[in-house]
Amino acid sequence: MQVEYTKMFIDGSWCDSDSGETFENINAANGETIARIPLAGHSDVDRAVQAAARAQREWARWTPAERGRVLRRAAQLLRENVEEIARLESLDTGRPIQETPEADVESGAACLEYFGGIAAGIEGEYGDLSRAFYYTRREPLGVCAGIGAWNYPLQIACWKSAPALATGNAMVFKPAELTPLTATRLAAIYREAGLPDGLFNVVHGFAETGQAMTEHHGVAKVSFTGEAGTGKKVMGSAAGTLKQVTMELGGKSPLVIFADANIDEAVSAAMMANFYSQGEICTNGTRVFVDASIEEEFLERLRQRTEKLKLGDPMNPDTQVGPLISKEHMEVVLGYMEDGKASSARLVTGGERATGGELDKGAWVLPTIFAGCSDDMEIVREEIFGPVMSVLTFDDEDEVLRRANDTEYGLAAGLFTRDLTRAHRVAAALQAGVVWVNSYNVTPIEMPFGGVKGSGIGRENGHAAIEFYTQRKSVYVELEGVDCAYD
Ligand code: NDP
Repeated sequence: MQVEYTKMFIDGSWCDSDSGETFENINAANGETIARIPLAGHSDVDRAVQAAARAQREWARWTPAERGRVLRRAAQLLRENVEEIARLESLDTGRPIQETPEADVESGAACLEYFGGIAAGIEGEYGDLSRAFYYTRREPLGVCAGIGAWNYPLQIACWKSAPALATGNAMVFKPAELTPLTATRLAAIYREAGLPDGLFNVVHGFAETGQAMTEHHGVAKVSFTGEAGTGKKVMGSAAGTLKQVTMELGGKSPLVIFADANIDEAVSAAMMANFYSQGEICTNGTRVFVDASIEEEFLERLRQRTEKLKLGDPMNPDTQVGPLISKEHMEVVLGYMEDGKASSARLVTGGERATGGELDKGAWVLPTIFAGCSDDMEIVREEIFGPVMSVLTFDDEDEVLRRANDTEYGLAAGLFTRDLTRAHRVAAALQAGVVWVNSYNVTPIEMPFGGVKGSGIGRENGHAAIEFYTQRKSVYVELEGVDCAYD
């Protein structure tokens, strides 16, 4: 597949880096080079920030309705190009073409449409003080830096840029170096939709490029998606200039299945929560707690359906499981599988690399289930970011809540029960930013998204996102003259 959008995009122009340095973008399915990508250094980041600052001053003067119109036009363009962009995303991430039209392109479009729609409805407050009054204005922050992970590159670029732009900010975005293509494609979409030059810039590179963004004096806010450890570094470096931060980090989320659950539904959810996108999803419910009385039935149905999953070429519409993002990441995931096999957990299915034919060229692993797991095992405590499910059993609600919450993370959680009061009681008690009841991993753009504890700070999506891309200014207006203490 010929790939077009491989440059950086700064101030409305496609460009190489000042140094002329590049890095390789590799296809995880066959190890071939897709393209060489320019590597942004400090001067490129600086150029992007300067351009963004210039453009933002003008953009903030547009009416919110005018800004919203551009975003909605961009949403339309994403939809008109869904097939091409979905193929690009599948090529870059290895995620099956079954997934990317809906989970990436349509969800990105929905995000642009949503923030394009609510832009004109953002309001301040008014307060009557009798001899005076005050009102608050919601003002943009200025230049926002967006730094993305490699699992959902287009969606992450949309989730960050749409609320930023809707509220009058500009953005400099760095996709993960493993997946540079679709954020760059988004820049072309924005341009075609009429977004003025400089408002959405894409720079490419590794940690050093990200750090140049987080340290830059001209950047007011950093919205970061990635590992918890990297998030802490980013926050540390943003502290030097007291930038605002949004942190969307990792997780080790619990999915709790009570004895009265619809077992087929719970199995579906557990599979979606562990094997969709090869398990490379931050919210995945990788600790599946099953009531001991239904464990056997649950595991048998789960094993049967998991073993039917079709691995293969991400571009084949029948493929359900593609390769992991890279050979290096595959080694990490295989390492966890070995840890699981060496522990007292029982391997139900999978547990190794998937090989044979074309699979030998890429980074495929078998969807894997361990049962009989205990809370202290490495596979149960650490984020694996691959298709590895740990099944644990429990006997009562208090016990499972204590164990489900016994993690440094708090991104998401799920529960399956037909008992209405239990559902709400447990949802309230789970320490997580998002809880799904009788479902898993559904993230409508209307619903705030983000983690608690070690999984993050701030929220994306929904009206909540507006809070994190604006600052309040209070304006006090005197009606009766200055109450002066001096003659
Ligand atoms: P990383 O933390 O490795 O990288 C994330 C981004 O940060 C990349 O663009 C990376 O660049 C960049 N980066 C790395 N070091 C620095 C630094 N010192 N300063 C600034 N930027 C830096 O995460 P992954 O890309 O490996 O993504 C997987 C992780 O992301 C998982 O933990 C997953 O749970 C989490 N995630 C969280 C989501 C959420 O919404 N909560 C959603 C999706 C993923 P480079 O490209 O060179 O690596």
